[in-house]
Order: sequence, then C-alpha cells, then structure tokens
Amino acid sequence: MLPKSHLAASDAMESSADMSDQIAENLSFIRSRIIHACEISGRLASDVGLVAVSKFHPKEAVEAALKAGQRVFGENRVQEAASKFPDLRETWPDLRLHIIGGLQTNKTVEACRIADVIETLDRPALADALDKAANKVGRLPELLVQVNTGNEPQKSGVSRDDADAFIKTCMTRFGAKVRGLMCIPPEDEEPATHFRFLTELAKRHGLPVISMGMSADFETAIAEGATLVRVGSAIFGSRPMTGS
Ligand SMILES: *Cc1c(COP(=O)(O)O)cnc(C)c1O
Repeated sequence: MLPKSHLAASDAMESSADMSDQIAENLSFIRSRIIHACEISGRLASDVGLVAVSKFHPKEAVEAALKAGQRVFGENRVQEAASKFPDLRETWPDLRLHIIGGLQTNKTVEACRIADVIETLDRPALADALDKAANKVGRLPELLVQVNTGNEPQKSGVSRDDADAFIKTCMTRFGAKVRGLMCIPPEDEEPATHFRFLTELAKRHGLPVISMGMSADFETAIAEGATLVRVGSAIFGSRPMTGS
C-alpha cells in the first residue's frame, strides 16, 4: 500500500486519539453506573464484572479500552475475534475473551483455541462438538449455558422447559468448566422478569456466574443478580447495521 499523505495521516491520528478518549470516558461512565447500581441493590461492585462487547469495532478500539484498564471483552463471531485478539494478547496477556454469539459446531476448534469463556452453550450437538474440539486443541474454555428465557424461535439458547435437564447434563459432562448461565431477554418485554428467572435457575444449580444485561438494561440486570454485564454500544459507540 502507498503511504498516506502527511495530512491524511495526521488527521487519522487526531481522530483516533479522539476515539480513544471517548472510549476511556465511556468506560469510566459505565463503571461508575455499575458501582451505583450495586450500591442501590446492596451488592459489592467487585461481584459484577464488565464484558466490553467489541463486535464490529476495530482492534484499535479494543486497544483503547485496554489502555483504559478494561480487560474482559466479548465478541459474537469466532472469525472476527480471531482476527483481533491473538495479537492483542501478546501485549496484554491478562485480557479475557468471551464468545457471546451463537456458536456453530464447525467453529468450536477455533473457539477453544482463542476464547477464555464461551457464553453460548445451548444444545447437545454443540456440547458434543466442544468436547471433541477441546480434546483436539487440549484446552476447554469456561462455559456458560445460554437460556432462551423468552422461548423466542429465532434466538439461540436452550428453552425454559429444557434448561434444567440440559444444565445438569452439561455439568456432569464438563464439571467445573460450567460456570453459569447467560440470557438475552426479548426486546419487547420487561427484562427484569427474565433476569429474575435466570438468577433463580443459576441458584438452583449452584452456578456462580450470571451473564445478563446490555447497554440498555444492565442496571436492571445488576438489581436482579447479574455477575457479568455485557456492554457494547455504550462503550464503543453504535455499530454498523447488520441485523444481529
Ligand atoms: C451485541 C451484544 C451485546 C451488547 O449490546 P449493546 O446493546 O451494544 O450493549 C451484549 N450481548 C450480546 C449477546 C450481544 O450480541
């Protein structure tokens, strides 16, 4: 590639500094809102982790968040995660990558290689594929079972009715690697009842991690027991429209 003109390069630098500042500022605002939400519901701020969802945002945006102290990131697609994170991990060995999007069985090997947590274990065929992939790679990430609390046909996640049995099977099969549950409530419903359902389900199975709440509703999720909130647009800005 030809070098960019001097002017263009300095313009780009200036706007990337602006971007970094904005991300640092957004992160600090989200952190303060998490602390406040914890105070209101009598919880310890240290019991609620922030997953910064960087899907569709460039590596530079993730770097800006890392420089601002953020260490845990979420990506929907294995391919996209693989294009950003292995490099970043060399500089920031303590970063943690969560796969939070529906996982295809043919992506499980790559997912086992690059992820620290897979939040979207939701069906027996995926459990089989992860088992095989983990054997092949010699590494199994921590797992959360995704529950389709709204029983929405287009959404991934085990249905409410099948959740207890599926969670039990996974815990038997993967032992302590199964850390908890994750959900994405229906967009047109009050999220609190879905969050409450997930917390009760996690308690029933003695699972410590409850991943729920996004930019629009993470404070409600914290009030209902979330131990991980997944925040994207409120940190990195809006994403290009993709339908996901
Ligand atoms: C995109 C996404 C998020 C973050 O959503 P925002 O509304 O941008 O905060 C959280 N969880 C999952 C599963 C996502 O796909």
